[in-house]
Amino acid sequence: MRLGIDLGGTKIEIIALDDSGRELLRCRVPTPRDNYEATLQVIVQLVHDAEAELGLRGSVGIGTPGALSRATGRLKNSNSVVLNGQSIQQDLESLLQRKVAISNDANCFALSEATDGAAAGAAVVFGVILGTGVGAGIVVNGHVLTGPNGIAGEWGHNPLPWPDAHELPGPQCYCGKQGCIETFLSGPGMMRLHERETGVALSAEEIVVRAEQGDAACELSLQTYENRLARSIAHVINILDPDVVVLGGGMSNIERLYANVPKIWGRWVFSDRVDTRLVKHQFGDSSGVRGAAWL
Ligand SMILES: [Zn+2]
Repeated sequence: MRLGIDLGGTKIEIIALDDSGRELLRCRVPTPRDNYEATLQVIVQLVHDAEAELGLRGSVGIGTPGALSRATGRLKNSNSVVLNGQSIQQDLESLLQRKVAISNDANCFALSEATDGAAAGAAVVFGVILGTGVGAGIVVNGHVLTGPNGIAGEWGHNPLPWPDAHELPGPQCYCGKQGCIETFLSGPGMMRLHERETGVALSAEEIVVRAEQGDAACELSLQTYENRLARSIAHVINILDPDVVVLGGGMSNIERLYANVPKIWGRWVFSDRVDTRLVKHQFGDSSGVRGAAWL
């Protein structure tokens, strides 16, 4: 049995999967506020309760924002700041008396979709989350690609590639730079850019609906979004050459992306043809916790 835990800022979720990926149990509790020790205790309790209920012992994987530093073994870059600087893997291994795997939520998303989701069977998978932020993870032959810095796939804070003049220098990003991919492709980024162009504040969903109804400004915003996404992914294809690019996060629910982006990404891919597939996630919000179980 495999236990996966999605450790978020507001809730902690556990899932139990059998070896075929069938869900045996799932439970969700609030994350203790600003309390590392209490967070550890909640995770331990969830594991023990799941094992008692199922009568099985499981492997444990945890998905959380941030990355484990190879140099120090401590978590960094997490937006749950109480976790930063903590030796969470070591602490949980001693509390649970077993190995604990930890990876970030984008990696878990990519692993879930590559294992038994929309990219099942593909050798090289680039899993992209287009949500309030933009992140990505890389899975090669069923394993998350990590690196000495623990940031493989972190592409949201690279600059938008092949910018035209009016895209420069680009919106200010919280990371301190300007023109990051995230500032163009996140949900809030798209809303801000549409508002700047048109003076009308609409959610991404509203922009999609109005474009379908023939609103020319909304249609233009969506085409611009598709063009930027195509450029951003083409840049990755030129480096990684993945078999499948799978999209998750709120913006991945824009169905037209899957037809329109592959129609144009060949303009920037250094190849006479592009056989990479662009697909929508299969597990949606469950990908994080499922991927943690597969770690
Ligand atoms: Zn940035």
